Amino acid sequence: MMIKRVGVIGAGQMGQGITQVLACADIAVTLVDLSQDQLDTALATTEASIAKLKERGKLAAEVNPLPNISVTTEMGQVADCELVIEAVTEDEMTKRRIFSSLNEICSSDAILASNTSSISIGRLAAIIDHPERMIGVHFMNPVPLMPLIEVIEAKATAQKTVAAVTELSERLGKTAVVVKDRPAFVLNRILLPTINEAIRVVEEGTATAEQVDQIMTLGAGFPMGPLALADMIGLDTCLSILDLMFVELKDPRYLPAPMLREMVIDQQLGRKSGVGFYRYDQ
Ligand code: NAD
Repeated sequence: MMIKRVGVIGAGQMGQGITQVLACADIAVTLVDLSQDQLDTALATTEASIAKLKERGKLAAEVNPLPNISVTTEMGQVADCELVIEAVTEDEMTKRRIFSSLNEICSSDAILASNTSSISIGRLAAIIDHPERMIGVHFMNPVPLMPLIEVIEAKATAQKTVAAVTELSERLGKTAVVVKDRPAFVLNRILLPTINEAIRVVEEGTATAEQVDQIMTLGAGFPMGPLALADMIGLDTCLSILDLMFVELKDPRYLPAPMLREMVIDQQLGRKSGVGFYRYDQ
């Protein structure tokens, strides 16, 4: 199956990036969010990102993806899509409501995918009819630049669903690595404990955020410090992933650092709120 029409639910940083790479591959995308303001911001971000990629020679000047994108606040508009990718806030109840609606809206052979960082694809599959069409497609941030898609197959996921998503990944110029459905899958299972430990080091006063990041970039060869990366991911998303890992893996090493929870309560979410471990111009 060759996917040509895709719906993306959630126009935050991931939904915007996913929409952009799909549109650049000449795929028609319908992007859905709760407010027109959020959709306008996503379109403006897409336009700016495409201009920057062209300026740096990473995208051919003649590529014009914007006409491939339509935006709407009506989820019903994804009814004719062959694949719908959910990229809303990392909250299981919100995602459950979305898949329950998509089950009613979409055709019974449409592939339904989640970009979740940690939530069980099997539990989401249990909500829909024909769970063999449910799959995890975990894009990396920033989507236009990162070459990996971590594909998660639940017990019920059909091989033809995996094959369709893998073929799409190739068309997007990305490498799909297919893994099993376990809490936080592979990337975040390994990455989030590192971020959590970096926060604990700052919390206990051993080093500042800048020093932690300097040590891990200059000393461990990380391309970006763990705290700058946490700011980019979003501290709310980091907290949700750690909370889920702690509950589901029952291991104290995943217990979120209290400082992380306090920062999220204070709406210090990283880049998206303008302040996290660092400050950002909006
Ligand atoms: P975000 O906070 O930037 O965006 C979430 C968007 O979802 C917002 O625009 C919000 O308005 C929208 N939304 C919420 N409820 C909705 C609903 N009912 N209908 C339509 N839209 C709704 O979050 P993000 O960083 O883009 O993360 C989205 C998903 O991608 C999460 O599951 C996250 O775990 C995952 N993810 C994030 C990263 C990362 O680095 N941030 C990387 C990989 C995967």
